[in-house]
Amino acid sequence: MTDRRPDPVLIAGAGPVGLVMALELARYGVKVRIVDPMTARATTSRAVAIWPRTLELLDRAGGDLSAELIAGGNKVIAAHMLADGKSLARVPLAEIESPYPFVLMLPQSETERILLHHLEARGVRPELATALADFTPDEDGVTATLRRADGREETAHFSALIGCDGAHSPVRHRLGLAFAGETLGSDWAQGDFHLAGMPFPVDEFATCLHRDGPAVLFPLAPGRYRVIIGLGPSTAPAAPPPPDMAGFQALLDRRGPGGITLTEPLWTTSFRINERQVESYRVGRVFLAGDAAHVHSPAGGQGMNTGMQDAVNLAWKLALVLRGRATSPLLLDSYDPERRAVGAEVIATSGRLIRLGTLGNPLARQLRNIVMPFVLGLAPVRHALAGELTEIAIHYADSPLNGASWGAGPRAGMRSAPLAGEVPYGAGDTPRFTLRLGAGVAPPPDDLPGALIDPVMRANPVPGGIELVRPDGYLALAVAEGEWEPVAAYLRRLGPAEN
Ligand SMILES: Cc1cc2nc3c(=O)[nH]c(=O)nc-3n(C[C@H](O)[C@H](O)[C@H](O)COP(=O)(O)OP(=O)(O)OC[C@H]3O[C@@H](n4cnc5c(N)ncnc54)[C@H](O)[C@@H]3O)c2cc1C
Repeated sequence: MTDRRPDPVLIAGAGPVGLVMALELARYGVKVRIVDPMTARATTSRAVAIWPRTLELLDRAGGDLSAELIAGGNKVIAAHMLADGKSLARVPLAEIESPYPFVLMLPQSETERILLHHLEARGVRPELATALADFTPDEDGVTATLRRADGREETAHFSALIGCDGAHSPVRHRLGLAFAGETLGSDWAQGDFHLAGMPFPVDEFATCLHRDGPAVLFPLAPGRYRVIIGLGPSTAPAAPPPPDMAGFQALLDRRGPGGITLTEPLWTTSFRINERQVESYRVGRVFLAGDAAHVHSPAGGQGMNTGMQDAVNLAWKLALVLRGRATSPLLLDSYDPERRAVGAEVIATSGRLIRLGTLGNPLARQLRNIVMPFVLGLAPVRHALAGELTEIAIHYADSPLNGASWGAGPRAGMRSAPLAGEVPYGAGDTPRFTLRLGAGVAPPPDDLPGALIDPVMRANPVPGGIELVRPDGYLALAVAEGEWEPVAAYLRRLGPAEN
């Protein structure tokens, strides 16, 4: 099969989502340019949590990317819940089925530095001090004008534009897409501190519930924590400046487990929570990903992770289409419904966590504090919560890309857990589907369209079952032994003709 070499893809925004987008496309052989008006990278920590599903998906990029991130961060294996200083529950994250059974604490500045290093190793260097000024979409992409900080302009054609340009996304505005949702009427403050006297081990984070609002402590390293504090309801037009260190200390003394002494502030800020999602993640060959498409509360630390997973979802589909290896409109059409459903779920879950943590009614708070230890004592509830937090529960059950499902095994659209020691699904320089054959299943017939399939087949734990796994590790279809025709039909449906 001959690959096409179309115009490059333009990525607007070199934040974490733009960097992952560029890295994924570049490794799949798509020429990219990535531009950003910033003149230097931010050095503040911002998002500090990388969840297991993100590590699984970044692992596909090779070059030990996930290992490098892990080496620089702190592995947290449990979430501790307290109310009024007393322990309510402990949710272990280590029980999940993943090669990465922990949440990695790593400042966003470090995450970006490591992503950048891997991107540059693939010959792509973000063009800083360069903004996307305007664009005109057409059937084959966009004609875009780039403006440099010194005023110079360049106009060029690109085969697609991906707006990874943050919550105030100029791409989203230019498309005229609604960003519906609300700004919650409460103020929050957060900061990174050196501290002493933390009563929990450095591999546990703590959520301290209190009638005045929650205080959350994420361990970045021994003696260095991210502290997030709810400041309460507010009708002021903007969040006030964050408290000084004495103010944070007083709030922690009142709401925390006690005995903690803040010794040095590293960075503080305050914020309002926005819960918003764009009405469509795609208009023709223009796509939105990351904060440009969805924003929500930092409770649960899902924002950056969800954005990176938008990029992973889009990259293999775009690479197959732009390289001419697949022609079905279904591929690009599936990006919006798949990722909009995930974004909506993340907004709903993080909103529920925020509302649960900030209950105003004393009776409701009392009930929460009584019920929570009982409910979190139930293994299925603990597993469900851990699955949501770690993002391993993310799935595409209603995707238009799904093929058949079979028997009692996993359904199409579910995550196919990577097995320790196996090359991750979708690794390498071409997006490929993987066949998994259960015990007793004969190899595929010679006339199975094979161009999109990895030549290395894997074992399927479901006896007598055939599974086809997408390049992003989600199940495309599952059928019984001998039923090769639905597999062939699925692959033919993606095209191209010589497949
Ligand atoms: C102060 C602060 C604290 C945060 N704390 C947390 C936290 O504790 N937990 C958490 O999960 N998340 C946190 N976040 C959010 C997290 O940082 C974002 O979810 C994450 O950065 C989203 O990545 P992104 O790449 O989508 O967007 P961004 O990181 O916002 O990157 C967008 C990029 O687009 C660029 N851009 C803008 N206009 C143009 C244009 N015209 N052309 C080209 N490029 C353009 C911008 O310069 C920017 O570099 C915080 C954010 C901030 C600002």
